[in-house]
Amino acid sequence: MIDLARLFDRSLEAAQQPQWPDPLQLARVEADLRKLPPLVFAGEADALKSRIALAQEGKAFWLQGGDCAETFEAATADSIRNRIKTILQMAAVLQYGASMPVIKVGRMAGQFAKPRSRDDERRGDVSLPAYRGDAVNDLEFTAEARRPDPERLLRVYHTSSATLNLVRAFTHGGFADLRKVHEWNKGFIKDSKIGPRYEAMAKEIGRALDFMKSAGIEHDAIKTVDFYSSHEALILPYEFALTRIDSRSDLPYAVSAHFLWIGERTRQIDGAHIDFASKVQNPVGVKLGPKTTPSEVEALIEKLNPGNEPGRLTFITRMGATDIREALPPLVRRVEEIGAKVLWVSDPMHGNTYEAPSGYKTRRFEDVIEEVHGFFEVHRTIGTHPGGIHIELTGDDVTECVGGGEEISHEDLATRYESACDPRLNHTQSLELAFLLAGELSER
Ligand code: PEP
Ligand code: MN
Repeated sequence: MIDLARLFDRSLEAAQQPQWPDPLQLARVEADLRKLPPLVFAGEADALKSRIALAQEGKAFWLQGGDCAETFEAATADSIRNRIKTILQMAAVLQYGASMPVIKVGRMAGQFAKPRSRDDERRGDVSLPAYRGDAVNDLEFTAEARRPDPERLLRVYHTSSATLNLVRAFTHGGFADLRKVHEWNKGFIKDSKIGPRYEAMAKEIGRALDFMKSAGIEHDAIKTVDFYSSHEALILPYEFALTRIDSRSDLPYAVSAHFLWIGERTRQIDGAHIDFASKVQNPVGVKLGPKTTPSEVEALIEKLNPGNEPGRLTFITRMGATDIREALPPLVRRVEEIGAKVLWVSDPMHGNTYEAPSGYKTRRFEDVIEEVHGFFEVHRTIGTHPGGIHIELTGDDVTECVGGGEEISHEDLATRYESACDPRLNHTQSLELAFLLAGELSER
């Protein structure tokens, strides 16, 4: 029997951890977390793994989206519902356009911690610890708010639990029924560019469903959807405390989310984050930036999936629109050479961030699209599967990324910029991206 207390090597270097002021308080919080019930179940993580295995063969498409950083304050019914609706709408567009099952995954119910490029943030003469997400400290720029507080990890657990509860209710309580594809669009601003296109598609889906019904075919699969949770596994005491031994297999599973990924800044091969990911049975992902080498990719595969288990490993590439066509092929080729099973997912957001003249962090919708095109192009050339997309989105009508059908400009950013961290695609931009992806997928 595996001893959870000894499973993880706590002597390894862990990047991007906050300086918790009181280690004893952190230990108490960890002990409390260890007593709490799992947020997700091992069997669900296994089910997700088999779906990823299908996507690796080009028989399903991965759609993962949500906030850069969830906040406690935004965990409201409206905000959660709008995000779910946006993902369901995108999935309908993709599934209809590509005739392929779509694996729906929220960057949600746990995405509360952020890696930062600097430990401190300076404003004028004042320097304070950087905001590391609601899991650690508060966005407000005061010494009090920025002090890391381990009690917040308990709040992460409870907010994740409440969010998942609503997600499960929405996705299994009739709301996600494909026959409601029209209704998912209600409540969003009527956008003249994308709205009519979506409505036309929803009508077609409705007709197809009516046709099936008239033929006596009514399948339960259209009434509910499986929606999985995911976040970056960053704050290790939290993830360690929420790792449990599955009673069926006697093996350790992370129970904080179905899918966890390791970020670009914490994927050191001998570091604590990769050690953690190597020891849980969940499907896991690793972000790969433009400087990643083929040897690093090979080392990650050896460490995270030595048995080449289908569905286990996903690489989320975030190269940037200008680099994707040069940086991705050597990695894909190495994976092909060694015959490793991985799912290739494009994150077209994180390599395309820049600062607008007004100081807002933003991304051009056109760059996002360009990286997606590059991603598909590379896989088409090599003959591998472009398996999915990972994006930062919100169902709300924010102005955080410039461009798109609504032609949001640098000046418009101030109108409604709400992200606690990186800029997200708004509802319209997300649907626009989905139509574009559907086009790419139907061309394959
Ligand atoms: C993120 O996904 O918000 C993030 C920080 O990404 P990356 O690790 O790719 O920089
Ligand atoms: Mn981000």
